[in-house]
Amino acid sequence: MLHKPRILVIEDESGIADTIQYVLATDGFAPVWCATAQQALQEFAAEPPALAILDVGLPDLNGFELFKRLQALPGGAAVPMLFLTARSDEIDRVVGLELGADDYIAKPFSPRELVARVRGILRRTVRTTAAGPRETVPAVSVVFSLDEERRQIRFYGQALELSRYEYGILRLLVQKPGRVYTRDELLTKVWDDDAASFDRTVDAHIKTLRAKLKAVAPHTEPIRTSRGSGYALAEDLPQEQR
Ligand code: CA
Repeated sequence: MLHKPRILVIEDESGIADTIQYVLATDGFAPVWCATAQQALQEFAAEPPALAILDVGLPDLNGFELFKRLQALPGGAAVPMLFLTARSDEIDRVVGLELGADDYIAKPFSPRELVARVRGILRRTVRTTAAGPRETVPAVSVVFSLDEERRQIRFYGQALELSRYEYGILRLLVQKPGRVYTRDELLTKVWDDDAASFDRTVDAHIKTLRAKLKAVAPHTEPIRTSRGSGYALAEDLPQEQR
């Protein structure tokens, strides 16, 4: 399936917007230009993009305020956003949001650098698709299905009651069956506050997760322990529950 990631380019200066759109399109993305915050809100509500590039200085709404409103839209919290800033005080504010290292790019920037950043962010952001607001993400396998909008995972058709971290771990695992995730990786990808996490936190959550999976399918072992390295989703689960 060839799906070009849709990227909102929210920038009022047409010259800059043109350049960004050009490099994104050349690199296989589907850019959508929004010259105002109002337009951005409409485009975003119609379908959350794979990523949004957000100019801080917009004519109708400050970029930070727009960011908050976009985040509040269905699916908005899952969309990575990259701020375009022109001044150092704006950079300070972006950094203050503590969204992550890749959340701003200072003007003037090189178009190549921008695309590299976009690629980097999308590579790290675990998302199956740029799904529409009510669209269910296609089943990962017959055994597991993932609905990111509802933050819900089904196992043999049965919805699991998961805590935030259990959901985060299982979501990663089911998206790449067989891929071994180390405890460190799980901590980085699932926990946002590293300070409060220890290896055993991961192990404890894996343990409760396993118990919940076992309650649905007692004869399966969906989460494999890879000796000394980490955890992976089993690739050979029975298609139907016995
Ligand atoms: Ca501007």
